[in-house]
Amino acid sequence: MLTLESACRRPERHRVLTGDRPTGPLHLGHYFGTLQNRVRLQDAGIELFLVIADYQVLTDRDLADRPAEHAENLVLDYLAAGIDPERATVFTHSSVPALNQLLLPFLSLVSVAELGRNPTVKDEIAHSRQAAVSGLMFTYPVHQAADILFCKPDLVPVGQDQLPHLEVTRTIARRFNDRYRTDLFPEPQALLSPAPLLAGTDGGKMSKSRGNAIPLGATEDETARLIRAATTDADRQIGYDPERRPGVSGLLRLAALCQDRDPHAVAEEIGSGGAARLKATVTEAVNEHLRPLRARRTALAADRDHLRRVLRAGSERANAVADTTLAEVRAVMGSV
Ligand code: ATP
Ligand code: MG
Repeated sequence: MLTLESACRRPERHRVLTGDRPTGPLHLGHYFGTLQNRVRLQDAGIELFLVIADYQVLTDRDLADRPAEHAENLVLDYLAAGIDPERATVFTHSSVPALNQLLLPFLSLVSVAELGRNPTVKDEIAHSRQAAVSGLMFTYPVHQAADILFCKPDLVPVGQDQLPHLEVTRTIARRFNDRYRTDLFPEPQALLSPAPLLAGTDGGKMSKSRGNAIPLGATEDETARLIRAATTDADRQIGYDPERRPGVSGLLRLAALCQDRDPHAVAEEIGSGGAARLKATVTEAVNEHLRPLRARRTALAADRDHLRRVLRAGSERANAVADTTLAEVRAVMGSV
């Protein structure tokens, strides 16, 4: 099992791919779930690819709302968090057509029954904004296998909801290699952080699209307002008990992550201060922790052209890598 530490010891042996949907600004779930790990891997000298999965926006809604603007804002969040565009390749899915050519042979490697069993897809259908479930909703994990495998990474830092998808990718890599008697694709491993499923202000998975997120780029006042509205309970004695008190425990967890402490210790400090004291503590911890990131974000936001240049350069590089992989795939399949 690869860990962050073991990967960082031999950076030249690894390559990382991961990404996000351009559905809104990145939030604390992204930050503690995957973004911090991305930056750590990059800073250890590991090559990093970041896909902005713009076609994937259409899995649960009819139209993508301002996809280009959201994509640029993702770049802004990445750079503010410490992603270095000189070292990392940041690209949008829609700018790399070879990825869609990989999709078709990959689709042939999975059964309809397997696609229907995916628990993350089921959860996303439950939260979908569409009355009917589209074919894209069922097949996007295969699309994602193409987004991942094109650059042959061995490590994918993700949140817990991505584990079933990564299993699809691993299955496709293995079956492709078996069927065509090749070793073209590695079977990439997921890298989970200690906070692989951060709760949002309603106690469910913090998500860009579910109105329960604390964005990295929120102002301090907005942060305070969002945390004030978080679901808690009537017991004034604050304690960490994720099973029975999910709301209170999620907030304690958040403060603990920001302060690099144990959530029980945060709870003890608040004692019988109730939800108001808890929320004030969490707000202070979040705002304090994000202050340097937010300052960098504000400075970077002044130059939108720079964000677009980062995407253009990343897309150029991703296209070169994807074209090479597609040529290899076609050769192995006897298409040329
Ligand atoms: P949406 O609601 O639009 O799907 P999202 O918040 O789920 O947005 P994604 O772009 O789907 O974000 O996910 C990007 C990455 O962030 C994935 O690796 C995912 O596992 C991780 N991630 C998202 N939310 C959380 C969370 N609450 N805790 C930990 N990791 C998360
Ligand atoms: Mg999601």
